[in-house]
Amino acid sequence: MPYDFDLFVIGGGSGGVRCARIAATLGAKVAVAEERFWGGTCVNVGCVPKKLLVMAAEYGHHAADARGFGWDVEATKHDWNMLIGAKNTEINRLNSIYTKLLTGAGCTVFEARATFIDAHTLQVGDQKITAERIVIAAGGRPTAPEFPGAEHCIVSDDAFYLPERPKRIALLGGGYIAVEFAGIFAGLGCHVDLIMRQTLPLRGFDEDLREGLADALKANGVHLHGGNAVTSVTAEGEVKTVHLSDGTSIETDMVFAALGRSPYTKGLGLEAAGVAMTKSGAVHVNDQSATNVANIYAIGDITDRLNLTPVAIAEGHSLAEALYGNGPRKWDLHRVATAVFSIPPIATVGLTEAQAAEQGPSDIYVSRFTPMRHSLTGRGRKTLMKLIVDQATQKVIGAHMLGEDAPEIIQGLSIAINAGATKGDFDRTVGIHPTAAEEFVTMRTRTRVVGE
Ligand code: NDP
Repeated sequence: MPYDFDLFVIGGGSGGVRCARIAATLGAKVAVAEERFWGGTCVNVGCVPKKLLVMAAEYGHHAADARGFGWDVEATKHDWNMLIGAKNTEINRLNSIYTKLLTGAGCTVFEARATFIDAHTLQVGDQKITAERIVIAAGGRPTAPEFPGAEHCIVSDDAFYLPERPKRIALLGGGYIAVEFAGIFAGLGCHVDLIMRQTLPLRGFDEDLREGLADALKANGVHLHGGNAVTSVTAEGEVKTVHLSDGTSIETDMVFAALGRSPYTKGLGLEAAGVAMTKSGAVHVNDQSATNVANIYAIGDITDRLNLTPVAIAEGHSLAEALYGNGPRKWDLHRVATAVFSIPPIATVGLTEAQAAEQGPSDIYVSRFTPMRHSLTGRGRKTLMKLIVDQATQKVIGAHMLGEDAPEIIQGLSIAINAGATKGDFDRTVGIHPTAAEEFVTMRTRTRVVGE
């Protein structure tokens, strides 16, 4: 064989590992290089540890709520170091599972940085390695803020390893990460300021969800500062001051910038291989994850398509099957369900009301209620459920939920919606009682019509 490997994958995150493992199982000679941590962002500084921290925050609420059910408990103090230690143990366990998955499938692993020398040659640590095909799966990194005083801010990578929990924290941004960490820190007892340039969080999500989330954040004690840009951050000793475009300022102990993530292309040597980039700095690929260079592919966040772990996995799996199997498995990447692990969480699949209105007449069904648990806890927490139905076909084209267990419920609904279920199919389905989920099959009265 003229090359050291059939396939070399740069990056041991969710997408890269899946691609490498499937390619090796299909008979290719595969290597993977990872310079930082196996499992990538999701396992180490993303989805997995984030959800553990959300659970930690929720336990405080559960302990307080238990009093409504007769329990004499009080959550008085939280041990941040204990939580981070337990989280680190779990993450280390997952790291080793990822390497075992790779070596078990017959892949060669390099704990080193890989950079392109040319289209078939990589510098991997101190070795030069050649491969017939190369997959770039190096992921993304938090976008660093650019205002004066940006050096006083932390980003999400840091938040998982703080030596102690701040008493006060200011979160910048109104996206996934900002609202998830607002829930975490508020739940653990911090004073939280959330500063965003939109008036509501989660631009692009359904407006009813955005409004419901803003109310939920406030109910959790988060101080919202919408419609505001940060002009600078100054520091005096341990105290930081965030200066806002409306002329006001906020004093805090820690400033956490969650202003998006950027493809991690820096220093990969893409120009040496002739790989073309998009205007936004991502690796440019077609629908088959192929770059402009015949033997080079890219998957996951480095391509800045739909930056979600299961999407990177689907892209990696499909690519491996396309290259070494009998053609790629089909995934539906047009209507991907997504969740935001705010407290309570949001989950959504399909079109928002605004998107549906642009497409044509749609029936909107909305339901708001107090979940059963909170009829006894006194916690003023509401659940919101919403269905969007295309009037002409009666197909359900969007389902949205803000409330406890929303991601678990919407996962099931997304199968029905991707399979083309109509409102009639929903109505014919007998609910499971008493659950919140049954509301999705008992919404009979249309709330409004849009797009006429
Ligand atoms: P998002 O893209 O979700 O949100 C970025 C936020 O920062 C937006 O509110 C945006 O405002 C704001 N922003 C960007 N630039 C500026 C600026 N210069 N000044 C002021 N505000 C600014 O990014 P996140 O960092 O929250 O998350 C990154 C990505 O990671 C997500 O998009 C998602 O793909 C993924 N992720 C997924 C999770 C999940 O599935 N649960 C959890 C966490 C992350 P505006 O809306 O006005 O542009």
